[in-house]
Amino acid sequence: MIKKTVLALLAAFCVLTVGGCHSHVHIAGESVEENRIEPTCTEKGSYEIVTYCRDDGVELSREKYDIPPLGHDYVEHPALYPTYCDEGYGWYMTCTRCDYSNYSVLPRKQLVLNPKTYPTTIPTITITVGGAHIPDSSEPGYDDYCDSTLKYSDGQNSFIDGFGKARVRETSSSLFGKKDYTIKFSFDASIRGYRRSQKYNLLASYMDPTLLREYLAMQISRDLNLYEEKYSANIKPVKLYIDSTYKGIYYLFDYIEASELKINLAETTEENKSPFLLEMDLSAHEAGVEGVDYFVLGSTDAFGSETDIEYKLNAPETVNFEQFQFIENYITRCRQALIDKDLETFSSLVDVYMFIDYFLLAELFHNTNVAGYSTYLYLRDFDRKLIFGPANNYERTCSRPYQLGPNTDYTLNNAQERFINYDFWKLFLEIEGADELIARRYTYYFRPIIEYELNEAELYYDCYKDLIKENADIWYTEIGDRNALLSDNYQWIFNYFSLRKSMFDSLYYRP
Ligand SMILES: [Zn+2]
Ligand SMILES: [Zn+2]
Repeated sequence: MIKKTVLALLAAFCVLTVGGCHSHVHIAGESVEENRIEPTCTEKGSYEIVTYCRDDGVELSREKYDIPPLGHDYVEHPALYPTYCDEGYGWYMTCTRCDYSNYSVLPRKQLVLNPKTYPTTIPTITITVGGAHIPDSSEPGYDDYCDSTLKYSDGQNSFIDGFGKARVRETSSSLFGKKDYTIKFSFDASIRGYRRSQKYNLLASYMDPTLLREYLAMQISRDLNLYEEKYSANIKPVKLYIDSTYKGIYYLFDYIEASELKINLAETTEENKSPFLLEMDLSAHEAGVEGVDYFVLGSTDAFGSETDIEYKLNAPETVNFEQFQFIENYITRCRQALIDKDLETFSSLVDVYMFIDYFLLAELFHNTNVAGYSTYLYLRDFDRKLIFGPANNYERTCSRPYQLGPNTDYTLNNAQERFINYDFWKLFLEIEGADELIARRYTYYFRPIIEYELNEAELYYDCYKDLIKENADIWYTEIGDRNALLSDNYQWIFNYFSLRKSMFDSLYYRP
């Protein structure tokens, strides 16, 4: 730089006689900058410093200087992890100045649906009551249960509880020949495949001679929850004995409740709010006080006439007035968001995919019951969203009429009719954008799971068909040809679900 300036000055003192008329000594004027090219994030820039003669403007010197690249002005963006339905992206950076970005798509998570294995022997449960009467919910002794010796054995593990209890489960099954039971151990019993618990249910699946419907629904529900790392109730076939009488095949089913190993509600010291587990139950008013044990919100016409929907507080056992208000308000806000067609607010309060799963399953099985009963909703903690589920009570499904005997109606008339008479679901379906969400969930998550479980149901039936026939021989003596009863029901179930699936495909399958 200095050297160049000296040269420029020397040049200025040179005698120039361009026209030959007279001599002139150039005198350098002030240096000026020319031809500036601004650098970018990645390309260098430059400028020139030029000196002209102060008097005649003759260029005396020109020097070019580089300007180094600026480098990117980074902004960091956190990753969005993919789900089974949506692609995501990794942690990435962009630049405030240019369009630099190292954004990269993370593909949708893939469901891994492995073939199941079915053990050839199934566990045995024995309820010994010494001939005593096991009470149902219409009887005064119901809450005290019936003293029982409970025995469980699965070939590898077995235990006996001399201080167990049993009662008929509180469902319409109390009217059937084969009843559901709830058993209660005197300790948290550990049964393989189940969350350690004092209480378990034994489901009769009486209306379905193949014993497939309720089992299939719960298997699908289990998958839907499992892959989302949410709790769902387990279900497995067992042989049941009451005293020494063999009662056929029952399903050992989780007793759904808020507990550390099941629906684990956060401990809270908040005075004016509380995590909660609610159960939709149209008969909540019979045993509870409005505003304390239950609240009323919305209505349903699923049972003939328009009926108010009651939400029963299942857990915590007691809450104060403000906490109850918080719970009621939470559900009211969720519903109001749907009325306002405000998907954004609804999604901020409710786990929408779990919500879609819950009602798609109810619709797939045409479960009318879920319109007013047996729907669980829970908020585990204040930084989480409301979950609809786990699914429960799928005995009376597939648009079968209510009857006190096994299914003998093989019509498929309404197998392709929607059933949307669920208060929340009906409102949700009217929102713009809901359709697209349902389609994504159905295509990438729900549909592969139902295909897988329908296939597994065939294998399951094949494995246990002798036991299922034995069960039919115990319970359906009024029907002469029980082989036909089973094969007709079996055919009908798979035809029914094939039609339902094609209905859903036409609505929501968009690969
Ligand atoms: Zn000059
Ligand atoms: Zn840049």
